[in-house]
Amino acid sequence: PSRRATSRLDRAKHAAMVERNNVAVEVSDLRKNYGGQTVLNGLDLTVRVGEVVALLGPSGSGKSTLLRCINHLEDWDSGMVRVGGRRLGHRDDGKPLSPRAIAHERASVGVGMVFQQFNLFSHLSAKENVAGPLRWVHGMTRVDADRRARELLERVGLSHRADALPRHLSGGQQQRVAIARALAPNPSVLLLDEPTSALDPELVGEVLEVIRRLAVDDGLTMIIATHQIRFADEVADRVAFLSGGSILEEGPAHEILTNPSHPVTQRFLSVME
Ligand code: ADP
Ligand code: MG
Repeated sequence: PSRRATSRLDRAKHAAMVERNNVAVEVSDLRKNYGGQTVLNGLDLTVRVGEVVALLGPSGSGKSTLLRCINHLEDWDSGMVRVGGRRLGHRDDGKPLSPRAIAHERASVGVGMVFQQFNLFSHLSAKENVAGPLRWVHGMTRVDADRRARELLERVGLSHRADALPRHLSGGQQQRVAIARALAPNPSVLLLDEPTSALDPELVGEVLEVIRRLAVDDGLTMIIATHQIRFADEVADRVAFLSGGSILEEGPAHEILTNPSHPVTQRFLSVME
Protein backbone atom coordinates (compact mmCIF):
# COMPACT_ATOMS: atom_id res chain seq x y z
CA PRO A 1 0.00 0.00 0.00
CA SER A 2 1.07 3.61 -0.53
CA ARG A 3 2.27 5.65 2.44
CA ARG A 4 -0.96 7.60 2.41
CA ALA A 5 -3.05 4.48 2.51
CA THR A 6 -0.97 3.14 5.40
CA SER A 7 -1.30 6.34 7.32
CA ARG A 8 -5.05 6.44 6.83
CA LEU A 9 -5.29 2.83 7.94
CA ASP A 10 -3.15 3.55 11.01
CA ARG A 11 -5.44 6.39 11.85
CA ALA A 12 -8.55 4.28 11.62
CA LYS A 13 -6.96 1.68 13.88
CA HIS A 14 -6.10 4.44 16.27
CA ALA A 15 -9.54 5.94 16.36
CA ALA A 16 -10.92 2.52 17.21
CA MET A 17 -8.46 2.09 20.08
CA VAL A 18 -9.11 5.54 21.45
CA GLU A 19 -12.78 4.75 21.41
CA ARG A 20 -12.25 1.49 23.21
CA ASN A 21 -10.36 2.75 26.22
CA ASN A 22 -11.25 6.42 26.05
CA VAL A 23 -7.64 7.42 26.71
CA ALA A 24 -6.16 10.04 24.40
CA VAL A 25 -2.69 10.38 25.91
CA GLU A 26 -0.90 8.23 28.41
CA VAL A 27 2.50 9.15 29.80
CA SER A 28 4.05 6.72 32.17
CA ASP A 29 7.23 7.02 34.26
CA LEU A 30 8.75 9.38 31.71
CA ARG A 31 12.37 10.29 32.38
CA LYS A 32 14.63 12.64 30.52
CA ASN A 33 17.99 14.22 31.26
CA TYR A 34 19.82 17.05 29.57
CA GLY A 35 23.49 16.57 30.28
CA GLY A 36 23.51 15.86 34.00
CA GLN A 37 20.23 17.62 34.66
CA THR A 38 16.98 15.73 35.26
CA VAL A 39 14.21 17.46 33.32
CA LEU A 40 11.47 14.83 33.50
CA ASN A 41 11.61 12.76 36.62
CA GLY A 42 9.29 9.77 36.28
CA LEU A 43 6.29 11.74 35.11
CA ASP A 44 2.85 10.13 34.83
CA LEU A 45 -0.12 11.71 33.09
CA THR A 46 -3.29 10.32 31.58
CA VAL A 47 -5.58 12.47 29.45
CA ARG A 48 -8.99 11.17 28.46
CA VAL A 49 -10.67 11.81 25.14
CA GLY A 50 -12.36 15.20 25.17
CA GLU A 51 -10.56 16.34 28.28
CA VAL A 52 -8.75 19.68 28.60
CA VAL A 53 -5.74 19.56 30.90
CA ALA A 54 -3.86 22.68 31.94
CA LEU A 55 -0.19 22.26 32.83
CA LEU A 56 0.88 24.77 35.42
CA GLY A 57 4.19 25.16 37.13
CA PRO A 58 7.20 27.41 37.42
CA SER A 59 9.48 28.11 34.51
CA GLY A 60 11.89 25.21 34.06
CA SER A 61 9.55 22.65 35.62
CA GLY A 62 9.41 20.63 32.38
CA LYS A 63 6.11 21.68 30.77
CA SER A 64 7.56 22.32 27.30
CA THR A 65 9.70 19.21 27.40
CA LEU A 66 6.68 17.10 28.31
CA LEU A 67 4.62 18.53 25.44
CA ARG A 68 7.52 18.05 23.03
CA CYS A 69 7.81 14.41 24.08
CA ILE A 70 4.08 13.84 23.50
CA ASN A 71 4.57 15.20 19.98
CA HIS A 72 7.81 13.22 19.73
CA LEU A 73 9.83 16.32 18.94
CA GLU A 74 12.11 15.14 21.75
CA ASP A 75 13.33 11.73 22.69
CA TRP A 76 13.27 10.48 26.26
CA ASP A 77 15.55 8.24 28.27
CA SER A 78 12.97 5.86 29.66
CA GLY A 79 9.27 5.48 30.22
CA MET A 80 6.40 5.37 27.81
CA VAL A 81 4.24 7.72 25.80
CA ARG A 82 1.05 6.49 24.19
CA VAL A 83 -1.20 8.56 21.99
CA GLY A 84 -4.54 7.02 21.17
CA GLY A 85 -3.29 3.65 22.33
CA ARG A 86 -0.22 3.67 20.13
CA ARG A 87 3.14 3.58 21.84
CA LEU A 88 5.42 6.23 20.37
CA GLY A 89 8.92 5.44 19.20
CA HIS A 90 8.35 1.78 19.62
CA ARG A 91 8.95 -0.83 16.94
CA ASP A 92 7.86 -4.40 17.25
CA ASP A 93 11.48 -5.53 17.27
CA GLY A 94 12.35 -3.03 20.02
CA LYS A 95 14.79 -1.02 17.87
CA PRO A 96 14.57 2.79 17.96
CA LEU A 97 12.71 4.57 15.18
CA SER A 98 14.66 6.42 12.50
CA PRO A 99 14.08 10.18 12.17
CA ARG A 100 12.08 9.47 9.03
CA ALA A 101 9.92 6.95 10.83
CA ILE A 102 9.39 9.44 13.67
CA ALA A 103 8.22 12.06 11.17
CA HIS A 104 5.82 9.53 9.71
CA GLU A 105 4.64 8.57 13.16
CA ARG A 106 4.04 12.23 14.00
CA ALA A 107 1.94 12.74 10.88
CA SER A 108 -0.18 9.66 11.41
CA VAL A 109 -0.60 9.63 15.17
CA GLY A 110 -2.70 12.80 15.19
CA VAL A 111 -1.03 15.28 17.54
CA GLY A 112 -1.15 18.99 16.73
CA MET A 113 1.05 21.57 18.41
CA VAL A 114 0.91 25.31 18.94
CA PHE A 115 4.07 27.07 20.09
CA GLN A 116 4.65 30.18 22.16
CA GLN A 117 6.42 31.88 19.25
CA PHE A 118 3.84 30.87 16.59
CA ASN A 119 6.55 29.35 14.31
CA LEU A 120 4.74 30.31 11.09
CA PHE A 121 6.50 30.10 7.74
CA SER A 122 7.38 33.78 7.32
CA HIS A 123 7.46 33.74 3.50
CA LEU A 124 4.03 32.09 3.16
CA SER A 125 0.57 33.64 3.40
CA ALA A 126 -1.79 32.73 6.21
CA LYS A 127 -3.64 30.38 3.88
CA GLU A 128 -0.44 28.73 2.62
CA ASN A 129 0.74 28.23 6.19
CA VAL A 130 -2.31 26.05 6.70
CA ALA A 131 -2.65 24.51 3.22
CA GLY A 132 1.06 23.85 2.55
CA PRO A 133 1.63 21.20 5.24
CA LEU A 134 -1.62 19.49 4.25
CA ARG A 135 -0.11 18.93 0.80
CA TRP A 136 3.52 18.24 1.81
CA VAL A 137 2.93 16.13 4.89
CA HIS A 138 -0.55 14.75 4.48
CA GLY A 139 -0.61 14.29 0.72
CA MET A 140 -3.75 16.36 0.09
CA THR A 141 -4.46 17.81 -3.33
CA ARG A 142 -4.17 21.57 -3.78
CA VAL A 143 -7.93 21.96 -4.15
CA ASP A 144 -8.71 19.98 -0.99
CA ALA A 145 -5.93 21.65 1.01
CA ASP A 146 -7.11 25.14 -0.01
CA ARG A 147 -10.69 24.32 0.89
CA ARG A 148 -9.63 22.98 4.27
CA ALA A 149 -7.39 26.01 4.90
CA ARG A 150 -10.25 28.43 4.17
CA GLU A 151 -12.52 26.47 6.48
CA LEU A 152 -9.96 26.63 9.30
CA LEU A 153 -9.16 30.30 8.81
CA GLU A 154 -12.85 31.02 9.05
CA ARG A 155 -13.05 29.04 12.26
CA VAL A 156 -10.36 31.24 13.85
CA GLY A 157 -11.95 34.40 12.44
CA LEU A 158 -9.32 35.18 9.81
CA SER A 159 -10.98 34.57 6.44
CA HIS A 160 -10.34 38.19 5.52
CA ARG A 161 -6.58 37.85 6.13
CA ALA A 162 -5.99 34.65 4.13
CA ASP A 163 -3.51 36.25 1.74
CA ALA A 164 -1.55 38.21 4.33
CA LEU A 165 2.03 37.36 5.23
CA PRO A 166 2.69 36.71 8.93
CA ARG A 167 4.62 39.98 9.33
CA HIS A 168 1.51 41.89 8.30
CA LEU A 169 -0.58 40.19 10.98
CA SER A 170 -0.76 41.03 14.67
CA GLY A 171 0.67 38.53 17.15
CA GLY A 172 -2.84 37.44 18.07
CA GLN A 173 -3.71 36.87 14.42
CA GLN A 174 -0.46 34.97 13.84
CA GLN A 175 -1.21 32.70 16.76
CA ARG A 176 -4.72 32.09 15.40
CA VAL A 177 -3.18 31.08 12.05
CA ALA A 178 -0.88 28.73 13.96
CA ILE A 179 -3.93 27.21 15.67
CA ALA A 180 -5.65 26.80 12.30
CA ARG A 181 -2.54 25.09 10.93
CA ALA A 182 -2.36 22.73 13.90
CA LEU A 183 -6.04 21.84 13.55
CA ALA A 184 -5.97 21.35 9.78
CA PRO A 185 -5.03 17.64 9.76
CA ASN A 186 -7.79 17.04 12.31
CA PRO A 187 -5.57 15.97 15.24
CA SER A 188 -6.94 13.81 18.01
CA VAL A 189 -5.00 15.89 20.54
CA LEU A 190 -3.92 19.51 20.44
CA LEU A 191 -0.92 20.58 22.52
CA LEU A 192 -0.51 24.28 23.28
CA ASP A 193 2.71 25.54 24.82
CA GLU A 194 2.07 28.88 26.51
CA PRO A 195 0.06 30.06 23.49
CA THR A 196 -0.41 33.59 24.81
CA SER A 197 2.91 34.23 26.55
CA ALA A 198 4.47 36.07 23.60
CA LEU A 199 1.46 38.33 23.06
CA ASP A 200 0.83 41.91 24.08
CA PRO A 201 -1.81 41.88 26.83
CA GLU A 202 -4.52 43.35 24.59
CA LEU A 203 -4.13 40.43 22.13
CA VAL A 204 -4.37 37.62 24.67
CA GLY A 205 -8.17 37.58 24.80
CA GLU A 206 -8.81 36.81 21.12
CA VAL A 207 -6.51 33.78 21.25
CA LEU A 208 -7.94 32.47 24.51
CA GLU A 209 -11.43 32.86 23.04
CA VAL A 210 -10.50 30.65 20.05
CA ILE A 211 -9.05 28.03 22.41
CA ARG A 212 -12.07 28.25 24.69
CA ARG A 213 -14.39 27.57 21.75
CA LEU A 214 -12.34 24.53 20.71
CA ALA A 215 -12.71 23.18 24.21
CA VAL A 216 -16.32 24.01 24.89
CA ASP A 217 -17.98 23.84 21.46
CA ASP A 218 -15.85 21.21 19.75
CA GLY A 219 -14.85 19.06 22.72
CA LEU A 220 -11.30 18.85 21.44
CA THR A 221 -8.78 17.02 23.62
CA MET A 222 -6.14 19.54 24.66
CA ILE A 223 -3.11 19.86 26.88
CA ILE A 224 -2.25 23.49 27.52
CA ALA A 225 0.82 24.78 29.30
CA THR A 226 -0.22 28.18 30.57
CA HIS A 227 0.24 30.81 33.23
CA GLN A 228 -3.30 32.09 32.71
CA ILE A 229 -4.87 30.87 35.94
CA ARG A 230 -8.33 32.34 35.32
CA PHE A 231 -8.40 30.82 31.85
CA ALA A 232 -7.33 27.43 33.22
CA ASP A 233 -10.06 27.62 35.82
CA GLU A 234 -12.65 28.45 33.19
CA VAL A 235 -11.63 26.06 30.40
CA ALA A 236 -9.66 23.15 31.83
CA ASP A 237 -11.29 20.05 33.25
CA ARG A 238 -8.15 19.16 35.08
CA VAL A 239 -5.01 20.92 36.22
CA ALA A 240 -1.64 19.24 36.61
CA PHE A 241 0.95 21.16 38.57
CA LEU A 242 4.54 20.39 37.56
CA SER A 243 7.58 20.92 39.66
CA GLY A 244 11.06 19.57 39.02
CA GLY A 245 9.96 17.35 36.16
CA SER A 246 7.10 15.52 37.80
CA ILE A 247 3.53 16.18 38.72
CA LEU A 248 3.27 17.47 42.23
CA GLU A 249 -0.49 17.73 42.33
CA GLU A 250 -3.34 17.20 39.92
CA GLY A 251 -7.09 17.15 39.98
CA PRO A 252 -10.25 18.96 38.92
CA ALA A 253 -9.24 22.46 37.80
CA HIS A 254 -11.37 24.45 40.18
CA GLU A 255 -10.43 22.33 43.15
CA ILE A 256 -6.67 22.59 42.58
CA LEU A 257 -6.80 26.28 41.76
CA THR A 258 -8.92 27.33 44.71
CA ASN A 259 -7.74 24.84 47.27
CA PRO A 260 -4.27 23.45 46.45
CA SER A 261 -3.01 20.98 49.00
CA HIS A 262 0.74 21.08 48.33
CA PRO A 263 2.68 24.02 49.84
CA VAL A 264 4.63 24.53 46.57
CA THR A 265 1.38 24.77 44.59
CA GLN A 266 -0.08 27.10 47.22
CA ARG A 267 2.93 29.40 47.00
CA PHE A 268 2.95 29.37 43.18
CA LEU A 269 -0.74 30.21 42.94
CA SER A 270 -0.57 32.94 45.55
CA VAL A 271 2.22 34.64 43.55
CA MET A 272 0.29 34.29 40.28
CA GLU A 273 -2.90 35.89 41.54
P1 ADP B 1 9.12 24.84 31.22
O1 ADP B 1 8.48 24.73 29.88
O2 ADP B 1 8.27 24.34 32.33
O3 ADP B 1 9.64 26.20 31.50
P2 ADP B 1 11.22 23.26 30.01
O4 ADP B 1 10.66 21.95 29.65
O5 ADP B 1 11.42 24.26 28.94
O6 ADP B 1 10.39 23.88 31.23
O7 ADP B 1 12.64 23.06 30.67
C1 ADP B 1 12.89 22.17 31.74
C2 ADP B 1 14.36 22.17 32.04
O8 ADP B 1 15.06 21.60 30.96
C3 ADP B 1 14.95 23.56 32.25
O9 ADP B 1 15.85 23.50 33.32
C4 ADP B 1 15.67 23.83 30.97
O10 ADP B 1 16.78 24.67 31.21
C5 ADP B 1 16.08 22.46 30.50
N1 ADP B 1 16.15 22.37 29.04
C6 ADP B 1 15.09 22.51 28.20
N2 ADP B 1 15.46 22.32 26.91
C7 ADP B 1 16.79 22.08 26.94
C8 ADP B 1 17.78 21.81 25.93
N3 ADP B 1 17.45 21.74 24.63
N4 ADP B 1 19.05 21.60 26.34
C9 ADP B 1 19.38 21.64 27.65
N5 ADP B 1 18.49 21.89 28.63
C10 ADP B 1 17.22 22.11 28.30
MG1 MG C 1 8.05 26.18 28.49
